Amino acid sequence: MDDSLQELQRIVLEKMNQLDFAIDKIEELQKIPLGWLRKDATQRHGVTRFFPGVDLSEGNLSAKDVRKVDLHRALVEEKYLPYGEYVLFHEYCHCLGHAGHGAGFKSLEKIWPDRKSKALGRQLTTELRHRMAKWLWTCPSCKRSHPRRRRSNGRFLCRKCKVYLIDEQGGAN
Ligand SMILES: [Zn+2]
Ligand SMILES: [Zn+2]
Repeated sequence: MDDSLQELQRIVLEKMNQLDFAIDKIEELQKIPLGWLRKDATQRHGVTRFFPGVDLSEGNLSAKDVRKVDLHRALVEEKYLPYGEYVLFHEYCHCLGHAGHGAGFKSLEKIWPDRKSKALGRQLTTELRHRMAKWLWTCPSCKRSHPRRRRSNGRFLCRKCKVYLIDEQGGAN
């Protein structure tokens, strides 16, 4: 497992220990391999992958049914680290027997103390879209830019300024 993932795992499990999660649960979570999501993922920042064919219903599922957890590489960048900790904790809540985001999952997830991390998550989504975009459709007036895979070719207006957007090269070039 990558060093940066190992460090993130250590931090999150240590915090869960302080939040009074049972030590046997923490030991089970520690055995789950962590890996990376595809580089071009923008909206998904973490995924819990259960073994194929396991019973996903509440009460039957446990950490032993998890094959691996994949995280976005940006989560270990210094600026996004607090959000990275929250995402891994979120995935660990899935690993502890909640496949979906139902009541059982939510009561567990709300134990995490850092509330600012969600805003950081939205910031990361925006930044990743810009990094992945071949083109930025930019308003010459208000300078707002919209990341896109294709050129706008002078076909679209800025909603606010009613002037044509221009094509600028994005981060994926
Ligand atoms: Zn989730
Ligand atoms: Zn504008």
